[in-house]
Amino acid sequence: MSDPVAVVPDHAPFTEAALDKKLGLSPKKYWRWLTNLDWENIRHAPPERDVRQEFADTLIYHEVLRELDAFIEKDRQNFDAIVEAINKAFGKPISPEWIHDFDQWYKKHKRVLENPDRTSKPEMVKILGSMPIPDLKEIEKTYGEVKVGIVGGGISGLYAGRLFDWVNEYLEKNPKIGEDNMKPLRFSFEILEAANRVGGRIYTHHFSPSRHDYYDVGAMRTFDLFADVGLYRTEQLTQQANEAAKDNATQEQPKISNCGDHDHSDSPKQLLRYFMKSDRTPNYFNDIQHYRVPHGEETAAQKAKRLETEQQEKEKDKNKLEPYKEIKAKVDAARENPHGKHGKSADTYRISTKNYGDVPYAYVELGAETLLKYAYDPFKYLMRYNFYVGYQALMRYEGYSVREFLSKICKFDFYTINWLETSDSATGWFDLAFTEAVLESFTFSAPKVCVKSKGKDGATTEGHDHDHEISPDTNWYCIEGGTGEVIRRLNDKVSGEPEYNRVVIGMKLKRDAPDNEKMEVYLKDEGQNPRKYHSVINTTTLGCASRMDLKNVELQTGQKAAIRMLRYSASTKIGVKFTDPWWIKEPYVINEGGVAASDLYSARMCVYPSYNIHDSHNRPAVLLASYCWGQDAERVGSMIKKTSPEGEEILRDCLLRDLARLHHDPKAPAELKMSYDEVLASLRKKYITHHSYDWNHDSFVSGAFAVFGPGQYRKMMPHLQRPTADSRLHFVGEATSNHHAWIVGALESSLRAVCHLLIKTGHWDIVKDLFAAWDPLPGFNEKIFFWQYVLGLLPPSSQATGQDIDTVKEV
Ligand SMILES: Cc1cc2nc3c(=O)[nH]c(=O)nc-3n(C[C@H](O)[C@H](O)[C@H](O)COP(=O)(O)OP(=O)(O)OC[C@H]3O[C@@H](n4cnc5c(N)ncnc54)[C@H](O)[C@@H]3O)c2cc1C
Repeated sequence: MSDPVAVVPDHAPFTEAALDKKLGLSPKKYWRWLTNLDWENIRHAPPERDVRQEFADTLIYHEVLRELDAFIEKDRQNFDAIVEAINKAFGKPISPEWIHDFDQWYKKHKRVLENPDRTSKPEMVKILGSMPIPDLKEIEKTYGEVKVGIVGGGISGLYAGRLFDWVNEYLEKNPKIGEDNMKPLRFSFEILEAANRVGGRIYTHHFSPSRHDYYDVGAMRTFDLFADVGLYRTEQLTQQANEAAKDNATQEQPKISNCGDHDHSDSPKQLLRYFMKSDRTPNYFNDIQHYRVPHGEETAAQKAKRLETEQQEKEKDKNKLEPYKEIKAKVDAARENPHGKHGKSADTYRISTKNYGDVPYAYVELGAETLLKYAYDPFKYLMRYNFYVGYQALMRYEGYSVREFLSKICKFDFYTINWLETSDSATGWFDLAFTEAVLESFTFSAPKVCVKSKGKDGATTEGHDHDHEISPDTNWYCIEGGTGEVIRRLNDKVSGEPEYNRVVIGMKLKRDAPDNEKMEVYLKDEGQNPRKYHSVINTTTLGCASRMDLKNVELQTGQKAAIRMLRYSASTKIGVKFTDPWWIKEPYVINEGGVAASDLYSARMCVYPSYNIHDSHNRPAVLLASYCWGQDAERVGSMIKKTSPEGEEILRDCLLRDLARLHHDPKAPAELKMSYDEVLASLRKKYITHHSYDWNHDSFVSGAFAVFGPGQYRKMMPHLQRPTADSRLHFVGEATSNHHAWIVGALESSLRAVCHLLIKTGHWDIVKDLFAAWDPLPGFNEKIFFWQYVLGLLPPSSQATGQDIDTVKEV
């Protein structure tokens, strides 16, 4: 398709002006209004945007401006502290003209700054564009060595090292940047890693050195990584990477590094497709087993017919945009008549009132996916159509959990919500922020919208655009050899070697010490002899940070709250090694990867790897038999031992039982029929060993990944992305990023910290080239970035309080 040029209809009904009029409505009335809109137009959206990113940017712009307003308006003294901090950073008093210009700018935009929520991002960017800030190139330059301590050797710590190496190389190649008689800037860094390996939450467990005898205990799939790490953004680059990897496979001589329990430097380094879905995977809920494609040999004719029908369905689906009003009408009708009218039961798992269950039959007939679309889609469509309007709509419910929203706003009953949670995600998951659930759902299913494009000839064509967002149609990848390969390759590229078994237990800011000694870092076995640095990048999870003594690093109250309270999910995985990949063979034929889901104790998700599909069917193979989150993971985790698999006999038996329940097909044709006991006996026989892991009980992780709770986006995100301790301590890592819970978020957060350090050392001019060489920091805005840096310079006594900043009325 030619470059899409979106043509948004002029008569669009849901404009910012219309929204303004509606802002005062109560959440319930607002929802009614929202769901009654003319959805035809809204589904004609401009092309792709990274909504999750856009959401976080807008929120951070709003919050930082709100904070500035609190400084200027509410307490002049606080603003004086800002001026003092800027004076210090520049090494000279800031010009009175700047203060005057800034005052003028503030007066002009006072109304917006008092309540920035009502200003869209483009408008905000325009206002920010006119904001005078001092020339960053005039910040006092630091020359010579700048010592940085990087706490943690996970992907964000290693990536920060890689970026510093790049900056050093750049400075060597461009010596004129410093003044001639000064020693050029050079970052030296130490990576202090508590464990005896690098990688943190990227960790591949190898049962043996044999090919494919592994599973990924942490991150296993990805859609978007910075090129240097080994994965690429586009198909074309992916192919190039694969080609290059094949060529390099025999030549590369990597340095020896601790990146797991196996050095597999001789394996080919390739990206493999990761399959999210397959028709052949089983499901099991409410004690009922179900295969979409039943067992039994399909004749060639039957198979051809099935594939043809599937293709037709796909084609139909491609051209069909289910109008929201149809979804709404169906849900409304179901509410009106909860027990439904139809004779034929759609209740596969017998959970409805028709089958002595609790969930209204009409809802079950509609399906969980439709009910969740009813709740999420207005926001998803709106954010694609007119981001600001969608953002405003979603932010009204920032304080809601998913459960609250579904109950209070959608009016679903307790049993329906439980069923939705069980079939959609982990137990307890619906206590997370509604905002988080909507944004996260973009990752796995983006709404289809209609985009009008202008071709080179000027003709307008219409098409359906949904593959720019990350969606089931997006290509997901895993790495041949496991994600640990990414870490190995990255670590190979970083200069020096991380220090292992270095547990950081505290940090202090010494404002009066020499520049390279202002940050003291205390290590477990190094008593009162702290390491001394110019700046520190802390990449540990917030759970690990909460154990450190951080009393003397001038944490802001928002940061303290985030370190203690930001919500993390638990997660466990169990990889099982069998004598052969039985799931690929008859009668299961799960030969396309994919995921099975159930409400069973251990097998809430069972992941069929794509890396061993084409291996011999007669040799041992690994299945990711159990992948759990939330409360399910907490319960499985309580059975996991450090000595796994030793001492886990009960867990192993539960797991084999659950696998047998999940895969036993009671409806299989006679020639393939096996009783449940036979399936279980066969799995027991094929079982060789297993390995289980609980990320909550990894004392250097303490929580698998951040999943924001109600209100936490607004109140915590801007503080987490801000340095503190004279802007010398940077919180980095997955949780602090807009794409939290993903590798890509961890990488972005390191880039942010390195940019802040370039401001701090007066080398702002490098940032543009840094972005050109790597990737720009998503959502980067120079003015906001500058203010985050300046606010990070302030001592606690000069900071604005949450109450000062909080002009937003909670809904
Ligand atoms: C089960 C699971 C599945 C996942 N699946 C995916 C996926 O499929 N795709 C994806 O993109 N992402 C996935 N993720 C998320 C991804 O793994 C993380 O976002 C990323 O690895 C986080 O990297 P990080 O550097 O921020 O943190 P970490 O990897 O946690 O690194 C922090 C480091 O700090 C060290 N440390 C801790 N305390 C101290 C201390 N006191 N002193 C010194 N060092 C310390 C730790 O040992 C660790 O090495 C998954 C995560 C988990 C847990």
